[in-house]
Amino acid sequence: MNKHDSERICGMLESLGASAVDSIDECDIVIYLTCCVREAADVRLYGQASSIKNVPLRKGSPLKTRILAIGGCIGQRDSDKLKSIVGNVDVVFGTHNIGHLPALLEDSIENGKTVVEVLEESSGFPTDLPTHREKPWAAWLPITIGCNNFCSYCIVPYVRGREKSRTMEDIVEEAIKYKSEGVLELTLLGQNVNSYGRDLYGDSKFYDLLCKIDELGFARLRFATSHPKDISDDVIKAFGSLKSLQPALHLPVQSGSDRILKEMNRKYTADYYLGLIGKLRSARPDVALSTDIIVGFPGETQEDFVATYKLVDKVKYHQVFTFIYSKREGTPAAKIVDNTPKDLIQKRFDSLVELVADRANELNQQDLNSTMDVLFEGASKKDANVLVGKSPKNQTVHVELGNKKASDFTGKILPVKISEAKTWYLKGDLLAV
Ligand code: SAH
Ligand code: SF4
Repeated sequence: MNKHDSERICGMLESLGASAVDSIDECDIVIYLTCCVREAADVRLYGQASSIKNVPLRKGSPLKTRILAIGGCIGQRDSDKLKSIVGNVDVVFGTHNIGHLPALLEDSIENGKTVVEVLEESSGFPTDLPTHREKPWAAWLPITIGCNNFCSYCIVPYVRGREKSRTMEDIVEEAIKYKSEGVLELTLLGQNVNSYGRDLYGDSKFYDLLCKIDELGFARLRFATSHPKDISDDVIKAFGSLKSLQPALHLPVQSGSDRILKEMNRKYTADYYLGLIGKLRSARPDVALSTDIIVGFPGETQEDFVATYKLVDKVKYHQVFTFIYSKREGTPAAKIVDNTPKDLIQKRFDSLVELVADRANELNQQDLNSTMDVLFEGASKKDANVLVGKSPKNQTVHVELGNKKASDFTGKILPVKISEAKTWYLKGDLLAV
């Protein structure tokens, strides 16, 4: 969601004549679009932002001083407090007024003052903001904003507000625009896409929306994120019936312990979750699964952790985003007293990461010698001789370029024969070129 918001900010500022630059030395305006889901992001913002004004402004800048804007989730949460925590901040904005950013910047530059605008909630769904898509062949399409779930560890509902859906007509219209612009891969976005439409239509209309978007004929359709308590049988079956829906699903489980799931206010059990996985694999046997897991939720016992470990072992995920629990003030979980030693939590975390890697490697080995369509994204940042792309299951695929140019393949879907399987990527050769 933040990546998409960044693309919107870039689009708005570009339409006013600004352009993105690669380094602090070259820039006149610095915008931090922040996240506060875990503490590390807070620490990073406060570590960096205070010193940004010390870097001299580039020669020829029309400004008297570099402008520093901080917004998004930390802006929403800290509002006025940011002025005292980060000296010299010029603009503070929240999550509900990204569209106002150009006006706030202008006000600060023209009047030489700090401008703070943080709104309680958005007046409607911000739909018509210009967007600079980082990858011309891929588009994010937000279908809901906010979240109503209040998982006990999570700050998102407090900083992003209650769930608001966008009308189906509006979403389809934007999707049609992307199709006409040559977008190959469309990703529908929401904190919980499965409850899409409840606020507008009384009941979730996510399956209907998927069907409508599928009819538009994108090469690849994806969505994130799904909540296990809300994913419906229709949506599960759609993995077997909708042509453009890719065989990859991110279904965050958070824990394999029913006791912890209850404490987390997740509203499902491990068995229920495993039942969903069974249904998914019946609908689409080759579906690749990914998940989020929190290790060290307050009061997590060894037994709770073993339940999580066993679930991960059983499901066999292609990818798992493992997080150590981070206390977020204002959430119910922050009040739970916890005496679990940090090194024990780290040990649990490390053993889980090891298991995840073993399982991911085993799954990738199954694709050896197969041929798959790969959407190429360009040369690797680490090795200019390697072309990088994504498989339908969202695996990273590497192809040696030899004497070919990366730009000839970027943004194209081409068949690749897999010759080597590693833990986090596959290697292969292009066919038919
Ligand atoms: N709406 C999505 C994404 C939420 S944030 C969802 O429900 O899946 C992404 C992930 O961050 C969550 O799935 C969770 O695993 C993790 N997370 C959220 N709050 C956290 C916290 N306080 N500490 C550690 N991880 C957290
Ligand atoms: Fe946070 Fe839960 Fe909402 Fe996801 S569903 S954003 S984890 S409260």
